[in-house]
Amino acid sequence: MATVDLNQVTKEFAGGVRVLDRVSLHVDEGEFLVLVGPSGCGKSTLLRIIAGLDDATAGTVLVDGESVDGVPPKERDVAMVFQNYALYPHMSVRDNLAFSLRLRHVPTRLRERRVRDTAELLGIEELLDRKPKALSGGQRQRVATGRAIVRQPRILLMDEPLSNLDAQLRVTMRAELRRLHLEHRTTTIYVTHDQVEAMTLGDRIAVLADGRVQQVGTPHELYHRPVNAFVAGFIGSPS
Ligand code: ADP
Ligand code: MG
Repeated sequence: MATVDLNQVTKEFAGGVRVLDRVSLHVDEGEFLVLVGPSGCGKSTLLRIIAGLDDATAGTVLVDGESVDGVPPKERDVAMVFQNYALYPHMSVRDNLAFSLRLRHVPTRLRERRVRDTAELLGIEELLDRKPKALSGGQRQRVATGRAIVRQPRILLMDEPLSNLDAQLRVTMRAELRRLHLEHRTTTIYVTHDQVEAMTLGDRIAVLADGRVQQVGTPHELYHRPVNAFVAGFIGSPS
């Protein structure tokens, strides 16, 4: 397990548009932190910076108190589940799951065991020989989650992982993600724009808008003591 700290992280894209403006945030060891905010507020950008897939314009990302600036993604103990799953279409489910382990030269035996255990955990044992195109949306989601957790990362980043599923399946998967978290306690940053998802999944919630973290707190705190009208409106507090 690991802590994550964002220290004054700023991101400007070409043209000087400032998407993130001195974002500071602490995520505790084993915590499930939900990052919510309206579409386009920079949630995906922030996750990509933590994963090392994009660079901050200014500021620092720390894992266990140490800066990871300049550390390539592969060497960060971070795995990410993307909104569109980004499965490798030409590979079987088994090879999708094994990919990150191969990349890190995990010995064959251990690799096979990890793939099997992960498939079992997510209930996709029967799908190992299929290609992604032969899977339903919910099955793809499970494979994407499996691919992220198979190498037992200390930090798990999830970018709207349930947004492509129908309402019923979202409820089921929410409960499963919660169960997985309780079993493994992987430090998790979970992005959503769905307020119900945030309230049911988060140990704490961080609300991002206008490039800044508006408020961080437990679901209870945000609901009962929102710091401003934006948070109240977004969380759905009675006003
Ligand atoms: P969210 O995930 O909260 O919907 P994003 O992080 O995807 O938001 O995007 C935040 C803002 O940054 C958007 O206005 C988006 O258009 C812009 N943006 C994202 N990636 C790039 C990029 N590579 N180049 C320029 N602008 C970008
Ligand atoms: Mg996004």
